[in-house]
Amino acid sequence: MDEQVLSALREVFGERLFTSHEQRICYSYDATGKMFLPEAVVFPVSAEEVRRTVLLANEHRFPVVPRGAGSGFSGGSLPVRGGLVLSTERMDRILSIDEENLVAVVEPGVVTETLKAEARKRGLFYPPDPASIKFCTIGGNIAECAGGMCAVKYGVTRDYVRGLEVVLGTGEFVRTGVSTVKGVVGYDLTRLLVGSEGTLGIVTKAVLKLIPLPEAAATILSFFRNNHDGSKAVVGIFGERITPCALELMDRTAIDCVRENAGLPVPEDAGCALLIEVDGPKQSVTGEADRVEQACRKYGAIEVSRAADAEGRERLWTLRRSISPALRKVNPVKINEDIVVPRSRLPEMLAFLGDLASRKRLKIVNFGHAGDGNIHVNLMISGTDEEERIRADEAVAEVFRKTVSLGGTISGEHGIGIAKAPFLEMEVGPLGVSVMKRLKRCFDPNGILNPGKIFVEEEVVSR
Ligand SMILES: Cc1cc2nc3c(=O)[nH]c(=O)nc-3n(C[C@H](O)[C@H](O)[C@H](O)COP(=O)(O)OP(=O)(O)OC[C@H]3O[C@@H](n4cnc5c(N)ncnc54)[C@H](O)[C@@H]3O)c2cc1C
Repeated sequence: MDEQVLSALREVFGERLFTSHEQRICYSYDATGKMFLPEAVVFPVSAEEVRRTVLLANEHRFPVVPRGAGSGFSGGSLPVRGGLVLSTERMDRILSIDEENLVAVVEPGVVTETLKAEARKRGLFYPPDPASIKFCTIGGNIAECAGGMCAVKYGVTRDYVRGLEVVLGTGEFVRTGVSTVKGVVGYDLTRLLVGSEGTLGIVTKAVLKLIPLPEAAATILSFFRNNHDGSKAVVGIFGERITPCALELMDRTAIDCVRENAGLPVPEDAGCALLIEVDGPKQSVTGEADRVEQACRKYGAIEVSRAADAEGRERLWTLRRSISPALRKVNPVKINEDIVVPRSRLPEMLAFLGDLASRKRLKIVNFGHAGDGNIHVNLMISGTDEEERIRADEAVAEVFRKTVSLGGTISGEHGIGIAKAPFLEMEVGPLGVSVMKRLKRCFDPNGILNPGKIFVEEEVVSR
């Protein structure tokens, strides 16, 4: 980006344009730990400023990379081709919460927990709850179609986006979808934009569905000897026709990582834990929780306990959310995948992962949203041993092949980004990739928005 471009940006953004090295470093990384330095960073406060930025980018041909909180696990917000990072952190207003029609209208930089808390105050519920809720943004959630613990009963971000306002790669401003419960007018552009990883358009406003807040909830922690028993219990709970609102699995190493912060006794021989929550009307929750406990015992639980109150429940969920950061205790570098298999194939997938870890001599930690069949497979490596890195890369390819062969998908909620681009074709086939590329050209003919993501083009080197 030359001085002419920077001064055009300065005209729009004034002090909300960052160009110093120190400032740019803060916007150069995400949760993958990779770093790519942007040439500049801007902080729009309106859709019009976003539109002017994208028009300038088309005129001068520089990349624009939308960024929420940078908590993504697939490299989506990294400026791999340089250019401009467009941070939505100052577009963070909840514009309205309509308590009659159960709809919220928000800007993209709203932190997910902020929206959930505002909804809660009104007896309403915005269900998507990635473990990063305290810092990730609605815009990032929409672009990645974020899931979370509640997805098993309530679905993912896609299920709560009714309509969007978006600046396309051309700089055109488009409204998609509806704010009503129903709407079928032309192609469903909203659904296409959700999960498009900032490659088709920049979300400047979202119309989100809310639902009534469940009256009560109960949380159960069950320990099993091993992953086999734990994953059989996951399948068994659904076999009993119970739909928990969360069903999380942690393997032995994940338990060990948080054991000392657990504040509760963990059986010595625990090789797998399930954290299960049921919710609904007060009068039905206790009965449902009893049935979950019975099902866990039936499938071999060695210990089952229930949180006594809301504080106890929150302690268990905080523990669950702390697993991801605590993994660094195992090894400094984490290769984090989020495969999904049909729930009934979980025992087979977990057995495969155990075997893979010993065959490849790797530390693989598995935890995640087992109720959805979604497992976060974390290959923990030193980061300094080249031979180990090669074994890890081979293992990742094997994990994806196995996942697809079981009828699963290589990403449940983290998206493709740069991390999984080489494997896109393995799942969607060459024609699928070709159709996606044609759509990209239609929304963004000059390749302005988030280049280098989703599709493999030339090699990009982290710096
Ligand atoms: C500890 C931890 C736990 C996590 N747990 C979960 C989990 O349980 N479930 C889950 O789904 N994810 C989880 N994540 C991943 C991550 O938080 C989500 O992918 C989240 O949606 C990213 O939001 P963000 O605001 O940080 O977006 P960023 O990381 O900044 O960006 C993500 C993508 O969105 C695009 N983008 C951002 N804003 C816009 C916009 N306004 N318009 C268009 N594109 C945009 C970016 O270009 C990028 O491609 C976790 C991450 C961490 C660090």
